[in-house]
Amino acid sequence: MHSANPHISCVVPAYNEGEGIRDFLLALWATLQPLASRCEIIVVNDGSRDNTASVVADLCQSGMPLRLINLSRNFGKEAALTAGLDHVSGDLVILIDADFQHPLALIPAFLARWREGYDMVYGVRQSRADESRLKRTGAFAFYGLMNWLSSVNIPADAGDFRLLDRKVIDSLQSMPERARFMKGMYAWVGYRSIAVPFDVQTRNSGQSAFNIRALLQLAQTGILSFSDIPLRVWSVVGFFISALSLAYAAWIIIDTLRFGVEIPGWATLAAALMFLGGVQLISIGVLGEYLAGVFHEVKRRPIYLVSERIGFEETDET
Ligand code: UDP
Ligand code: MG
Repeated sequence: MHSANPHISCVVPAYNEGEGIRDFLLALWATLQPLASRCEIIVVNDGSRDNTASVVADLCQSGMPLRLINLSRNFGKEAALTAGLDHVSGDLVILIDADFQHPLALIPAFLARWREGYDMVYGVRQSRADESRLKRTGAFAFYGLMNWLSSVNIPADAGDFRLLDRKVIDSLQSMPERARFMKGMYAWVGYRSIAVPFDVQTRNSGQSAFNIRALLQLAQTGILSFSDIPLRVWSVVGFFISALSLAYAAWIIIDTLRFGVEIPGWATLAAALMFLGGVQLISIGVLGEYLAGVFHEVKRRPIYLVSERIGFEETDET
């Protein structure tokens, strides 16, 4: 059982949310106030090019427990969440999008689950009816592939709308990887988790920062950082092709001994050559992807850079 009156932190990643974030933060604060005697809201401004930073900085003066972290540029949502998690002081954190797509009304339900003893409570979207057919099929294929390839089991349609206990926050912080695929990391750390179904709301203002390309990139990061099967499958493929070639060679020998030398066969030769060339290029390509992953990890660059912190008592130099 967790304590009855926890200190609640909220992390809100924001990229070009200037239009709606003021309303959102006021609504979030109104939701949190009756739930806890101590709470904080941390907005991570992920290099927005609009007025997100100034809107939030103004709100910081209004007396609500609001803190703002300005990243030095756009590092992506996963990095923004990591930055937020590095700054939370609460017993638990709630991660929530700044665009009203994650219903605030669910927060009391998340807390109730946490009080029951769950360390991670995550929202699972009940339907993807609001999304295009392409996105839906893509998501379905991705979760299928991911869970087939990787040993961690990532619940389908569970996003970043979740509550994490301090234990989970500390565990996530102990993971040093630069390739941040948060959905996989939540699953990897384990702990007692429970799903809460919800309906994704329509965006209040602005537009989604994730186009098909960004989603494909995220999917690739996820698969490369949570599975080594694409890397290792080639030895099996090689083994089968070698076995087949050996059998084929034996058959050619027998055939030649029985019926004599036959000149034609260039089509077989050409097809086999091209096929093997393709297979080799693919396997080298996959090797390259993993090598690129290693390259990015060994550089050990920071996951994000902070240009300014506002509202943090100890570290506030501004
Ligand atoms: N976001 C961010 N950095 C980015 C892209 C998005 O911090 O590079 C934030 C964004 O402000 C929002 C959340 O991540 O609070 C989800 O983004 P979005 O609504 O664009 O994605 P979707 O809801 O389509 O998944
Ligand atoms: Mg959104």
